[in-house]
Amino acid sequence: MPAHDTTNSKPTLIRAVVLDDDGKITLRDVDLTPPGPGEVQVRVVAAGVCHSDLHVTSGAWQVPQPVVLGHEGSGIVTAVGDGVDDLEVGDHVVLSWVPGCGHCRTCHAGRPAQCAFVATVVAPGGVLYDGTTRLSDATGPIHHYLGVSSFAEEVVVPASGAIKIRDDAPLEDVAIIGCAIATGVGAVRNTAAVRPESTVAVIGCGGVGLACIQGARLAGATRIVAVDVVTDKLELAVTLGATETVDAAAVPDVVAALRSAVPEGYDYVFDAIGKIRTTEQAIAALGLGGAAVIVGLPAQGESATFDPLALAEADQRILGCNYGSSIPHRDIPELVDEMMAGRLDLASMISARRPLSEAVDALADLAAGHALRQLLLPGRDTIES
Ligand SMILES: [Zn+2]
Ligand SMILES: [Zn+2]
Repeated sequence: MPAHDTTNSKPTLIRAVVLDDDGKITLRDVDLTPPGPGEVQVRVVAAGVCHSDLHVTSGAWQVPQPVVLGHEGSGIVTAVGDGVDDLEVGDHVVLSWVPGCGHCRTCHAGRPAQCAFVATVVAPGGVLYDGTTRLSDATGPIHHYLGVSSFAEEVVVPASGAIKIRDDAPLEDVAIIGCAIATGVGAVRNTAAVRPESTVAVIGCGGVGLACIQGARLAGATRIVAVDVVTDKLELAVTLGATETVDAAAVPDVVAALRSAVPEGYDYVFDAIGKIRTTEQAIAALGLGGAAVIVGLPAQGESATFDPLALAEADQRILGCNYGSSIPHRDIPELVDEMMAGRLDLASMISARRPLSEAVDALADLAAGHALRQLLLPGRDTIES
């Protein structure tokens, strides 16, 4: 990978959380090159810790390393590159990991979540649109994670990945809109288009699953059954809109438990975990004409099985969902408005606020299953709880 040309630009020294080739994660000093054409620099106020960061640190997903982790965040624009006319210094932004190029076939068709350049250049290459990185240290170039790399004091991102929001919104809380909320609420609204008075089950009550539950409540679903193995998460699910719960650790058969609540099967089941077992449970719990939505992302190379005859006869659908099929510039400001109007509860989903130096502990807590959404706050060395 070529390093970005730095001859005419002085880098900023920032602290960032780097995953190295040997699997070690360290907080260290990194050079950040100023934004090139079509890019902006953002001071990160908060970064959410998501399972997709864990997939990288565990090796379930392969991405180029060394890499600065983090793909969910919020902040304030500190510099803009040439040709950026919709953002200026001081703007409050939510970071998005689908910075649509605006030029490919799917972007033109109004589906930036499927942008061809994000899928073929930015995400797999760990680079920005010109195929280079803005991050480096004495050992050489360091990659971006999903074009964001928010576990850092500052980031340089494509301007289309920094979504301007109203400046009266709490900048820490809105960080989780960039992945969990856009994905979960988007899965309900954009991918599945859940209808009022429908029946919904959500498997997995982490950040994305809880966002699905809130989306289903806002869509007017009359039954919303939450499934998880952690009692605290199920209790929060009820607070956020679930009408009943299934403790998957306490029942012998999750599908049977779901069907005992809604015997005819569900109109929509969201798999917010993305394990083979949960995907198969989501399909098996559907009713006539139902749709299983795969929102949680499995490890690379896995395969699930289902009965295609039963699916066809029952007129059911299996829907893949990337980033809630979102249009970030349309959906993210709207989600911020809904939070400000009290319709979306983000604060309850944030279980911890930690300094950047605790990134490794935050990832461990998420892996252990007892954390909800944790925020890393790069601007604060110590945080009173
Ligand atoms: Zn995520
Ligand atoms: Zn595109």
